[in-house]
Amino acid sequence: MNPTLAEIPELFYSSETGTPIEKCLVCEKYLLDKEEYVIEKAFTNYPGVNTKDLVWEFAICTDCMKVQMNEYSEESERKMTEYFQEHMDFSYQNSLRTNQNFDASEWVSKCIIKGTSIEECAQFQISAQCLGNLMLFERTPFMISGEAMDEIIQLMSNETLDFFNDFRGKYFPPPEDLSPFFKERDFVLI
Ligand SMILES: [Zn+2]
Repeated sequence: MNPTLAEIPELFYSSETGTPIEKCLVCEKYLLDKEEYVIEKAFTNYPGVNTKDLVWEFAICTDCMKVQMNEYSEESERKMTEYFQEHMDFSYQNSLRTNQNFDASEWVSKCIIKGTSIEECAQFQISAQCLGNLMLFERTPFMISGEAMDEIIQLMSNETLDFFNDFRGKYFPPPEDLSPFFKERDFVLI
């Protein structure tokens, strides 16, 4: 089945401007022309209260993503790839795509690894591949629950966790991170 491109949904817009994110977090290259990039956002959820806080959001171009990936330890990279291969279940994304359902909120409605519904996740990250001003509905968009993220973090070397923390500290220094509920060691580039 061919991947499908559709307009970037508001869920993945910049929370600051209310429009699609325009620049790569790292190299600040303009993205909305024909660049390939990934949008990632993390939220803290308050189950029962029906409210969620954005923890961070960014877009990163494929070139910068590759450079960042080289900073992982090889072992961590291998373990993360193995974990994803073993646990990611794309059957839900596939069925949505077969039904021509490109409602992003549906695509991220349950954890791609645990199957947990988004309302039950105390923390979660959403991720989507984009091309210029369009989003690729194929394997992404997807959501990863905090529970699965914790498992991934357990697999990472200290060196890799330090890298993630430095990355987060550089681009999202406190007090920009307004969520007191987000743990210190939490950031994973996926
Ligand atoms: Zn870049």
